[in-house]
Amino acid sequence: MSKPYDAVIIGAGHNGLTCACYLAAAGMKVCMVDRRTVAGGAAVTEEFHPGFRNSTASYTVSLLNPKVIRDLRLAQHGLRVVERPFANFLPLSDGEYIKVGGGLEATRREVARFSKRDAERLPDYYARLEAVADVLRGLLLETPPNVGGGIPDLFRAWKSGRRLNALPMQAKRDVLDLFTICASEWLDRWFESEPIKACFGFDSVVGNFASPHSAGSAYVLLHHVFGEVNGNKGSWGHAIGGMGAITQAMRREAEARGVEIRLGRAVARVLGAGGRASGVVLDDGEEVSARCVVSNAHPRMLLRLLADVPGDWREPFENYQSESATLRMNVALSELPDFTCLPGKHAQPHHGSGIIMAPSLGFMDRAFTSAREDGWSRQPIVEILIPSTVDDTLAPKGAHVASLFCQHFRRELPDGRGWDNEREHAADAVIDQVTRFAPNFKASVIGRRVLTPLDLEREFGLIGGDIFHGKLTLNQMFSARPVLGYGNYRMPLKGLYLCGAGAHPGGGVTGVPGHNAAREVIRDFRKLKD
Ligand SMILES: Cc1cc2nc3c(=O)[nH]c(=O)nc-3n(C[C@H](O)[C@H](O)[C@H](O)COP(=O)(O)OP(=O)(O)OC[C@H]3O[C@@H](n4cnc5c(N)ncnc54)[C@H](O)[C@@H]3O)c2cc1C
Repeated sequence: MSKPYDAVIIGAGHNGLTCACYLAAAGMKVCMVDRRTVAGGAAVTEEFHPGFRNSTASYTVSLLNPKVIRDLRLAQHGLRVVERPFANFLPLSDGEYIKVGGGLEATRREVARFSKRDAERLPDYYARLEAVADVLRGLLLETPPNVGGGIPDLFRAWKSGRRLNALPMQAKRDVLDLFTICASEWLDRWFESEPIKACFGFDSVVGNFASPHSAGSAYVLLHHVFGEVNGNKGSWGHAIGGMGAITQAMRREAEARGVEIRLGRAVARVLGAGGRASGVVLDDGEEVSARCVVSNAHPRMLLRLLADVPGDWREPFENYQSESATLRMNVALSELPDFTCLPGKHAQPHHGSGIIMAPSLGFMDRAFTSAREDGWSRQPIVEILIPSTVDDTLAPKGAHVASLFCQHFRRELPDGRGWDNEREHAADAVIDQVTRFAPNFKASVIGRRVLTPLDLEREFGLIGGDIFHGKLTLNQMFSARPVLGYGNYRMPLKGLYLCGAGAHPGGGVTGVPGHNAAREVIRDFRKLKD
């Protein structure tokens, strides 16, 4: 039996690291344990082909909370995030393209090539979306009111209600719509031309096994716009050194605050004698005792670690929905993609943007329906980022690395098929999809690492391969994340907490669940000591 800690954290993902930093700052003695040999969870940079490094899973920054960046002194630890030259570049089916971002005027000019009316509506669209994103931002750092809780929860509910009530009626309607309707309905109300709808609609299917025509997909679109880069709201950027630069900076801060990090060790069980969490058992049988246990793992992973804790609480956790239908691939490239619609292999601004191979909402809908029937889409939705265009730490001089983020690939395949046999076929389909728009792409790939939903589950413990630790649907958000009755970071055992993306406000590299959970842990810890 090792010496007792104040807290043991299961998992050293970015939320676990964030939580650890706040707990240590409050004077708690903290130990973290992660089954991987690299800290950072799904936000890590690794070599995937000799001489080529890249973010392994998560690949682009926006949602990382400014308070977390400041409190954890990430910039002082060397974190530097650069913005894209413009947000997105979409090659279209007819040899055309659209570029979005890089300033309102530039986007308006671009959209006007397809519809003058759409270009005129853009400022209003951004303003209305921004107003709702601000509501979300206001709720991010708050602990949701717990349904079935006491007076403090009633007060929290009243506070959140008051915030919503203060909005103008139009914004209230937008909130209701964006939380419930489909992305295509929302976009159809605003725009008539397909390219701009495809560009905005892409966000509604990122990490979401859904069509833009599926109810609730508008919320996922919104979830992707509440962030910022260097103070610019809604923008996305690249962390120099890849996403691992974020978590390495967090790790340095955690260690400077005295946190002990044990890697390559899996937690097999939470100790919960007498209804109170008192530590964990590692896979080799070692016990780590602690006054409380905080889980950064997926909620259904936590359920497994509590196998010997019976009760009614188990059923809703068993039913927690978790599948994003994502395939992630890194490729080493001998040269940049040469797009038919915007030719050239030399680095141009569009190579530094998010390049989306999904020319219309109809295309995205077909990718969804075909995956629903056949397990994965033969013509998938693919976004490529080529971080080596702005970061020379990732690839040898003259060569490049690209992150490919692809939908829709189901965790379970029909007819007894399995990912270990289909991985390379699916990867080939992704490469073919890009090659349709950039004919030199296939021949330029000199190395690749493919992560199917099964691999995401095996490698990172993402049950169902869900990149957000569970679907971002209304029944799994705010007070209901992960499940109703456990929305305030406190889990079914006393002294057991959830600090990962399965807690409010959900997935993304935000640091927010870790920040908020720490506040609740510290509150209870102080009461325990008094
Ligand atoms: C393919 C992919 C692409 C993504 N792209 C983006 C993006 O571009 N931008 C963005 O903002 N977000 C992105 N996301 C989402 C984002 O990465 C996640 O929501 C976020 O990393 C979750 O952080 P976390 O700390 O809560 O959990 P994780 O990062 O999942 O960390 C949890 C940790 O717990 C450990 N663990 C689990 N079980 C155990 C156990 N039994 N014992 C010990 N350790 C355990 C795991 O090994 C892991 O290290 C992406 C995710 C994926 C998978």
